[in-house]
Amino acid sequence: MARGKTRGNGAPVKRRKGPRAPFWRRKGLAEMTRKEWESLCDGCGRCCLVKLEDEDTGAIHFTDIACRLFDSQSCRCHDYANRSKRVPDCVRLTPRRVAAINWLPPTCAYRLVAEGRDLLAWHPLVSGNPDSVHDHGISVRGRTFCREDDLPVDDYVKRVVDWPGQAPRRRKAATTASRRRRPLL
Ligand code: SF4
Ligand code: SF4
Repeated sequence: MARGKTRGNGAPVKRRKGPRAPFWRRKGLAEMTRKEWESLCDGCGRCCLVKLEDEDTGAIHFTDIACRLFDSQSCRCHDYANRSKRVPDCVRLTPRRVAAINWLPPTCAYRLVAEGRDLLAWHPLVSGNPDSVHDHGISVRGRTFCREDDLPVDDYVKRVVDWPGQAPRRRKAATTASRRRRPLL
């Protein structure tokens, strides 16, 4: 999923390949099966935030306003199958679009793989836990202000925020014991 509303850290780890490496290390985006492609989405919801484009510079700014179909608790789309009909400016990601779009968050798994990076420890495919993206503060859960229909469009500019476009801070090295319980980013 991804939404570009233009109205208006991964660490650079080299992906280790090999026949037994997981699919996101062995395959490029265009080589993935549909199931693999869908599973690559970490469910962070950052791309479902309304974005504003600066008319003068073309710069894209995230807001903490969610799409009208966004479920802020699950961080998923209410109607994923029909999203294009219901929200015409919802951008369906494809390998080509991932390469072309300049507003995918730095944490986005599609962007990481397209840039030749590895997934990070909190990605559900790595952790085996769908909640790890929330537990590590990567998702937008608890951070959205409202849905887009709850605020006049002219007020969107007041909700511009930086954090969706930022990579998570690296945590300080911990003791071996605590590192096991809470993987480093
Ligand atoms: S991983 Fe990428 S496509 Fe999936 S919700 Fe996060 S930003 Fe959007
Ligand atoms: S329609 Fe669904 S997938 Fe598209 S931006 Fe809105 S919540 Fe996200």
